[in-house]
Amino acid sequence: MFRINRREFIKSMAAGIGVVSFGPVFGSLAQDAGNSHIQTVLGPIKPDELGLTLIHEHVMVDFIGADEVNKDRYDPDEVVEVMQPYLEEIKALGVNGFAECTPMFLARDPEVLARLSKSVGMHIITNTGMYKEPYLPQYAFEKSAQELADMWIHEARNGIENTGIKPGFVKIAVNPGSLIPIQQKIVRAAARTSLATGLVIASHTGHGVAALETMDILEEEGLSPESYIFVHAGSESNQDFHFQVAERGAWVEYDHIGENSAAGALKLIKNMLEKGYEDQLLLSQDAGWYNVGQPKGGNIRGFGYIISEFMPMMVESGIDQNTVDKLMITNPAKALTVKSSGGAKAVSPGGKAVSTFGKVKGGK
Ligand SMILES: [Zn+2]
Repeated sequence: MFRINRREFIKSMAAGIGVVSFGPVFGSLAQDAGNSHIQTVLGPIKPDELGLTLIHEHVMVDFIGADEVNKDRYDPDEVVEVMQPYLEEIKALGVNGFAECTPMFLARDPEVLARLSKSVGMHIITNTGMYKEPYLPQYAFEKSAQELADMWIHEARNGIENTGIKPGFVKIAVNPGSLIPIQQKIVRAAARTSLATGLVIASHTGHGVAALETMDILEEEGLSPESYIFVHAGSESNQDFHFQVAERGAWVEYDHIGENSAAGALKLIKNMLEKGYEDQLLLSQDAGWYNVGQPKGGNIRGFGYIISEFMPMMVESGIDQNTVDKLMITNPAKALTVKSSGGAKAVSPGGKAVSTFGKVKGGK
């Protein structure tokens, strides 16, 4: 069942990288930095170079659908011009890392991201993988899981299209409820990509049953649960599902943080911390973006709220600063670190984070 082979195991042990379990063995980021990296659009960096990070945001999206999506539908110069001030705004607030979650066939454009990364001076990370209908090309239905994985692995190793720009994570999506066959195949393809490349899988999943079924497939493929991010977990109103996903060793991402959802998000976060899942929690806003097809990209939601408003709110509510830093700095870097073991399932099962240093003071 375990995909890790002896050679990889010895190699990773020699390198001092824990493949055995999740959480404690990761140790400090600095300790791992020599042996591991995060893949940005401008190349690899050490995990401790990432800094304050927004792990789920968008620079550009085109919702026209896979049949019509096309680079001729937008002017990259205009996209850069429109989006640069939004990135400069958060750069001034201290943000240094930015994971751009727009998948292929939804106007993923690594060259636009590389230009912004250079001009703003921010580490931007793009992705490989595929979304769901109507953002899937016909060939997604015809190719096997392995054929899709081979395409994504090729991108991870050689770069996207002919740009030479490599993705730093796998982004997919699943339908709500029980997974339909095409999404099962895409999850399986993502698992194989992750096993071959060490890239973490961020899956758009607004539903608890879908998250658990996704994990079943990933585990069946031999992938370690820490290679999976339950994206949009906040859309599942029954938090027991969030706990179950965390208990199995995966990441839970509350990426819906904004002015209107702040109180609810804070409650979800505190519940996760009280359960001891501080090492498996990710926060972001799913904000942005230049909406292709609308004049000047239409209405764009800025990226600053979580830094300027929500982080202070967390501290005021009794969450200590170290924990806030963990959620916004340490955890995103850990999640995005390319696993040298290829993300194979560990020798002992993953599971609940061991460290619980009582991170919530008072309050409830
Ligand atoms: Zn998103």
